[in-house]
Amino acid sequence: MKKIQVITLFPEMFEGVLNTSMMWKAQQQKAVEFSMVNLRDFGIGPRQQVDDTPYGGGDGMLLKPEPLFAAVAKAKEADPTAKVLLMTPRGQRWKQSLAKTYADADQGYIFICGRYEGYDERIVSLVDEQVSVGDYVLTGGELPAMTIIDSIVRLLPGVLGGEMSAEIESFSDGETLEFPQYTKPSDFNGMKVPDVLLSGNHAEIAKWRAANSLKADK
Ligand code: SAH
Repeated sequence: MKKIQVITLFPEMFEGVLNTSMMWKAQQQKAVEFSMVNLRDFGIGPRQQVDDTPYGGGDGMLLKPEPLFAAVAKAKEADPTAKVLLMTPRGQRWKQSLAKTYADADQGYIFICGRYEGYDERIVSLVDEQVSVGDYVLTGGELPAMTIIDSIVRLLPGVLGGEMSAEIESFSDGETLEFPQYTKPSDFNGMKVPDVLLSGNHAEIAKWRAANSLKADK
C-alpha cells in the first residue's frame, strides 16, 4: 500500500478531494493511505508561530525552518524511506511520465506545501525533488499537491476500472493526446457521432482514432 503524507497548514482543504470518487475508492481498496501532518502542530511558542519576515526585506511572510524540519522528521518516523517532495514554481514541471514512475515505485511520498511568499530555503536540504505544476503562481502548495497525488493514485494497480484506460489516454506515450470520444445518443440535436464509430469495424475505428489523436505541442 502506498503511503502518502502531506505537510500543510490547511489539511481541511484535502478532505473533499481525497475522500471522493477514485481517491476514496483507492483508500477503500488499500491501494493508498493518506495522512495529513498539520504544520501548525509544530509551530513555535504559545501562538504556534510558523512564519516570519524575510531577511533582506521584502513583502510577505515565509514559512520558518524549525516547524518544517520537525514536521518532516515526524512524517519520516512514520515512513523512513519516503521521498520528500517540495511544491514550488521553481521545481521540475510535473508530467504524466513522472506520475507513472512515481506510481510504479515501491515507496511512499511526503508532500510539503508552501504558503504565503514561500519557505525558508534551508528546507531544501531535506527535499528529494522540487516539483512545479506549471508556470503560474498559486497561493499555496495544496492544489499542486492534490493535483500530483491524483495523477499518481489513479495509476496505482486496480484503482481505475479498466486497467487499460490509463494506457491509451492522453500523454501516456509522452506526447499524444487522446482522440475525441462520444457516448449515447448517436444523434443529439442534429449533432451526429461520426459514422465510423457506429460501424463496428474495429480496424476502421482504430484508424480513425489514430488520425484524430493530436500531438501535444509541449
Ligand atoms: N514567492 C514565490 C511564490 C510563493 S506561492 C515565488 O515567487 O516563486 C506560495 C507557495 O505555493 C509556494 O511556496 C509553493 O509551495 C506553492 N506554489 C505556488 N505555485 C506553485 C506551482 N506552480 N507549482 C507548485 N507549487 C506552487
